[in-house]
Amino acid sequence: MPSPLSIDVAILGGGPAGCSAASWLGQLGLTTLLVERAPRLCAGLAALDFAQDWVLGEPAARLADLADQYAAQASATPGLALRLGAQVESARHSADGWTLQLAGGERVQARALLIATGLRLLRPARYFASPHARVLDAVSLTAQRATLAPGRVLLLGAGDNAAENALFLAERDFDVTVWARGGWRAQTHLVERIEAHPRITRRLSTPLPEALLPDADGVTVGTERFDHAAALLGFEPEPSAFALLDAHARQRAFVAGDASGRWHPCVQTALADGVQAAKQIEQSLRPQVAAAPQRHNNRQVIHLQGLRFRANLGVLDFERTGPQPIQVDADVNLGALPVVARDADIGHVLDYRRVRAAIIDECTAEHTDLVEALLGKLCNRLMGLPGVVGVRLKLTKLEIFPDCEVAISTELGAW
Ligand SMILES: Cc1cc2nc3c(=O)[nH]c(=O)nc-3n(C[C@H](O)[C@H](O)[C@H](O)COP(=O)(O)OP(=O)(O)OC[C@H]3O[C@@H](n4cnc5c(N)ncnc54)[C@H](O)[C@@H]3O)c2cc1C
Repeated sequence: MPSPLSIDVAILGGGPAGCSAASWLGQLGLTTLLVERAPRLCAGLAALDFAQDWVLGEPAARLADLADQYAAQASATPGLALRLGAQVESARHSADGWTLQLAGGERVQARALLIATGLRLLRPARYFASPHARVLDAVSLTAQRATLAPGRVLLLGAGDNAAENALFLAERDFDVTVWARGGWRAQTHLVERIEAHPRITRRLSTPLPEALLPDADGVTVGTERFDHAAALLGFEPEPSAFALLDAHARQRAFVAGDASGRWHPCVQTALADGVQAAKQIEQSLRPQVAAAPQRHNNRQVIHLQGLRFRANLGVLDFERTGPQPIQVDADVNLGALPVVARDADIGHVLDYRRVRAAIIDECTAEHTDLVEALLGKLCNRLMGLPGVVGVRLKLTKLEIFPDCEVAISTELGAW
């Protein structure tokens, strides 16, 4: 038996959501298998050959054109394997990930599974008992409406789809009846245009007909006759991929696009879902990656220990006659700093030679009577250096007494 194809992510469904996820997964460096049961990507969208105005930034763009663009870009994704006109027959989840069996015998081992299989239209049997073409659903009406001979048409439903089609047909001299169990669920601007349209009859909040009975010349609905009827009664997530999964596996699969049961399914939400899913999958596959290197340390301190030189300091007579040896110990707190990991980062650090020079300069510039005063001057000078948030200083008179040294220390700023 040939060894299975081993990839990071298997995506079922190559509509806008699946294409968007595939494209992002590729950019995130993950390998992907995209299984689409239609012979091309974005097949559903490609069938919607009309200009729409839902997609922000793409007013009047034809959905079929968008379908071609999404398909072309997704197909070119590095690391993507495509299976068009293909179906998954089984999908099992275990500790090792997913094992998929494709119709035709190919086996696939994937670390994550994304379901992006879209919607299926609700087609109640009492309306679609006969396959006669005079009863249409949302997709077939959209495909045929430009070529239907004008006449009397019945639209069941009061959502965006029914509203848009009612206007489309009424503007082409159809007499349209919109019949719905409840009130309008369509966009307000569509409803306002419908309310004002003389060719559209509204039959809202009315129980739906028992049956649509088509024949070669039209459709009988109770005591009425129409030339065509369309049931635009909503949708549900396409069940075929979910049916492959047991309850445990369903919890582990990712879902994107219309398959996730969007309240208002559309191209934009599908594309965005694909991006979200890709990021979530990447995160779920990389928990073992070590935490990113810390970008800031907690604190960085320059220590100058045992800096000895002669300074004019003190109130005693002999101290006024000339400089005496002192020692300065200094800790200079630079606070939390970006971690410097390359020599080229020298421009971002405080040069300790500046600290040393500032101490010597401050202590030798003039005579200071009190050690405390000199410590104060040193503190101010060092705190004025760039990035310094705290200093600890110890100043020692090394030869003030023959039998001991004398030191005073201080601490200032943040520690
Ligand atoms: C009549 C109509 C008009 C619309 N008008 C607009 C509009 O004007 N503007 C707008 O933004 N949106 C519109 N939409 C909605 C838009 O088409 C969808 O929201 C969008 O295509 C959803 O993308 P998706 O990838 O989630 O699902 P889909 O585009 O449905 O893609 C799902 C894909 O999965 C495949 N598939 C299903 N089951 C399996 C399986 N078991 N194995 C492998 N592949 C499988 C399908 O063949 C399909 O290609 C309209 C929809 C309809 C029906």
